[in-house]
Amino acid sequence: MGKWDDEYDVVVAGSGAGAMAGALAAASAGLRTLVLEKTRVLGGTSAYSGAAVWLPGTRVQERAGIGDSTESARTYLRALIGDDGAAHREAFLSTAPELVEFLERDPAIEFRFQAFPDYFPAPGRMDMGRSFVPLELPLERLGEELAGLVRPPVDRDRAGRGHSAKPMAQGRALIGRLLLAFTATGNGFVRTETPLTDLVVEDGRVVGVQAGSVRLRAPRGVLLAAGGFESSAPLRASRAVPGGADWTMAPDGANTGDAIEAAVRIGASTGLLDQAWFCPGLLTADGRPAFTLGFRGGLIVDGSGRRFANESLPYDQMGRRMAGAQGPFHLVWDSRAGGLPAISVPPLTTDEQVAAGRWVQAGSLDELAGRIGLSPQALGETVGRFNGFAENGVDGDFHRGEDPYDRYFSGGRPCVVAVDRAPYFAAEVVLSDLGTKGGLRTDPDARVLDGSDRPIPGLYAAGNTSASFTGPVYPGPGIPIGSAMAFAYRAVQDIRR
Ligand code: FAD
Repeated sequence: MGKWDDEYDVVVAGSGAGAMAGALAAASAGLRTLVLEKTRVLGGTSAYSGAAVWLPGTRVQERAGIGDSTESARTYLRALIGDDGAAHREAFLSTAPELVEFLERDPAIEFRFQAFPDYFPAPGRMDMGRSFVPLELPLERLGEELAGLVRPPVDRDRAGRGHSAKPMAQGRALIGRLLLAFTATGNGFVRTETPLTDLVVEDGRVVGVQAGSVRLRAPRGVLLAAGGFESSAPLRASRAVPGGADWTMAPDGANTGDAIEAAVRIGASTGLLDQAWFCPGLLTADGRPAFTLGFRGGLIVDGSGRRFANESLPYDQMGRRMAGAQGPFHLVWDSRAGGLPAISVPPLTTDEQVAAGRWVQAGSLDELAGRIGLSPQALGETVGRFNGFAENGVDGDFHRGEDPYDRYFSGGRPCVVAVDRAPYFAAEVVLSDLGTKGGLRTDPDARVLDGSDRPIPGLYAAGNTSASFTGPVYPGPGIPIGSAMAFAYRAVQDIRR
């Protein structure tokens, strides 16, 4: 056996919301806990996120008086996912209120309800949603050193810039708040630029991790919450995950499936490996995608110049329609929209993207079609038909605007709006994702299972490192982060037993 370089009670690999919630739970319980992060900064995709958290039936929804309950969430999840993952569903539902109470007990952490509709018309759905977000976090509260450890928003991060002077919001606020609470316990330690490479097993139990040449002991447990494999082209190809490593929204080079592979090498089993949290991504000037949602105008056409779906569908469902269609895809809109008729992360301006040569502006639809390689006749017919739907107020092909989600982003106004006022614009849309959602199979306590469904002692997984209990369904805003935090928290409750 090699010599240990350091010893903790618990090592958490990764530093997204699940990792940090688990690390905080462990450190608060008096366990010396290390957060081991591959990159220079903490937070991963969680830091880029809107930090909507779908944890139903908690004190946050109660404070907001929205009428959410564990029971209605159970009805909703059961309608969408069935009873296959019932044990995980019940574990998730029973943990949500306890987890939020635990988190908000910490003076550094506070949430507020934020309306954002659930994604499916199913029993138990909340039209205004049930998810919540962290309060913004002034940089002074975190201090320069800790603030510098939090991954900046996606546009600044891609440009190699740090945080602005504004309070941290959304995912940065969530990671910043969890980090503040974690370090304040006195039991929380962080190592950045130290990727987990292997797991150390003694007598059938995981007792530590190898991080390159560094060997770290963790006799109470190792929690793998190091994202999925969205940024690994070979792994994506081997599992036929639609989209591409260049088109994922995850931070560059961060999530390449290291933790999943390390666990597989010691006998862990995997599931759902062809799945991701999909979304449309507008290609931007630097060739990277921008997560795009909430289309309140414009239309998306496929490689033949025809519509193929309701553009206003919740983004994962739209992504899945793209996976079944033939690209290249383009969003087409006009000057009536007054700018991009959708929300994009990072925020984009039409002028900048047109000036950079990434998006196309044209005086007529025929010219636009020619410049994006489509038949002017096909695009003209598609837009003409679409404009007819706008006039009648009914999308006869894809029912856009019929679901409350579709109209949420247009403030209740129609989202099928005529595209008929020059100049016209087009932007290429790629099949992007917010991370893969297949990975290590776990039991409801987040214990990693081997090929015979037996827990591997000492090893836990949460977030996109684990196979999501939601299967190929994305039920509502905040499910990735909510479930990552819930199962990381459960892992720590098991470690403490
Ligand atoms: P991550 O948050 O990506 O964290 C993984 C971390 O592990 C990274 O820091 C990575 O560097 C590190 N790591 C990787 N390999 C290793 C290794 N070998 N050793 C050590 N560390 C390693 N979801 C929601 O629920 N609500 C939202 O509002 C929401 N909004 C979103 C908005 C945007 C713009 C995007 C891009 C995503 C959004 N998502 C949202 C999706 C969500 O952010 C992710 O699916 C989720 O955060 C993934 O969490 P994770 O912990 O699995 O991975």
